[in-house]
Amino acid sequence: MENNNEFKPLDLAKKSRTFCILPWIHQYVGPPGDVKPCCVYEHKEQIGSLKENTLKEIWNNDATKAMRLKFLNGEEDANCGRCNSRVELEAEFKNKFNDDFFTNNQGNQAVVAATNPDGSLDDHRLVYMDVRFNNLCNLACRSCGPHFSTSWIVDSRKLYNKKVKEGMDDEFQFPGKTEEQALSEMTPHLPTMESVYFAGGEPLMQKEHYEVLNTLVEVGNSDCHIRYNTNFTKFTMGAKHDAIEYWKRFKNVNVNASLDGSHAKAEYWRYGTVWKDVVANRQRMLQEVPHVRFNIGFTLSWPNAFNLIEFHREWVEQGYIHPDNILINCLDGPPYYSLKNIPDWKKAKIETALRDQIQWLKDRGASSQTVFMYETAIGFMHQQRALLSQTVPEGGLHDSLKNFSRITKKLDAIRGESFFDVFPEHLDIKEYMTEHGLHDEFDY
Ligand code: SF4
Repeated sequence: MENNNEFKPLDLAKKSRTFCILPWIHQYVGPPGDVKPCCVYEHKEQIGSLKENTLKEIWNNDATKAMRLKFLNGEEDANCGRCNSRVELEAEFKNKFNDDFFTNNQGNQAVVAATNPDGSLDDHRLVYMDVRFNNLCNLACRSCGPHFSTSWIVDSRKLYNKKVKEGMDDEFQFPGKTEEQALSEMTPHLPTMESVYFAGGEPLMQKEHYEVLNTLVEVGNSDCHIRYNTNFTKFTMGAKHDAIEYWKRFKNVNVNASLDGSHAKAEYWRYGTVWKDVVANRQRMLQEVPHVRFNIGFTLSWPNAFNLIEFHREWVEQGYIHPDNILINCLDGPPYYSLKNIPDWKKAKIETALRDQIQWLKDRGASSQTVFMYETAIGFMHQQRALLSQTVPEGGLHDSLKNFSRITKKLDAIRGESFFDVFPEHLDIKEYMTEHGLHDEFDY
């Protein structure tokens, strides 16, 4: 039922171009306790903190109420840049959430209809949760940092010459005033939860992840949709916890393996990866939990663009995946890895390879959604670099390549690696940088 004759939130939601269901059904909690409507909300922004307030208090605070009203009234939230910048591609993140939790979901439509005119909701009812219980992770991926991985802490201090701990990013973090708070606030919602998303840090290293699954079984909610973003290197935690054994107890499980490449390229890009373990894990899943849906979650940047093609083809040919078992997410930051920030002649080479891949996939029965993902990636690459002005202060291609050079050289030295040895397909970028004097030294 709508609240009154003047204010019809459900009608507004159905008409609004900017409507996103998440602030009505979901709370994201990051490792330092930042509470947001979703995980792709602007990195440094939050609508509350679990270090200061409870989830219930944040649910109807001024920022959350204002956000709901913006979404109903067709206004953009400036911190939803990752959705706003994809409007022209019709590939906003929120579309998937609206499809899953709003368009045909009468229960959640009733929640929207019950919005009060000030944007508040009488009930604190979460049907979808994404809580990062800590930032513990065994990998230090090039596109990540200490905010989401404890394995980055030492390298980050060396990279930026930090002498002492600087800010919350530079340590082991957990949300809340105690390590237990996030789980204890989440638990009352588990009996009616429709979907839980685990990411990290590395979720399979978090004891709270296993406790959530145990509770879901105990309260009879093993129909809950369990979703993961995992680095896919390790299925066990200690002697007692084996994720595969847990997945056998749930019907509806999706595993997105954050794999941004294969073989030596995977081991470089996702530092700490042992490629043969990744392959063995996929083989074990196919044998023991074939009901678990699996996707490669590939974060596409210019360094790994050609490797996307090799990797996708290899795993299809090996029978490890169907051509459709991939989700391509175009990397927004760090901006010096973005597909947008390379010369046009390099974009043309990548586009030719991606179009060739589209044909290869079509010949093997790939769906229109998979083809659309590849085409979206091409569209993303050609979006104007100016759209990155929020994330590239200098805004220029050459400044971005200089940043790439500085960070890559120093991190390579710290880790004893060499980018152009592992990615020889980008020697043309190296030549371009030489020609234009872009091999900047690290000057921190
Ligand atoms: S960034 Fe997108 S998915 Fe996240 S709250 Fe904003 S509109 Fe929704």
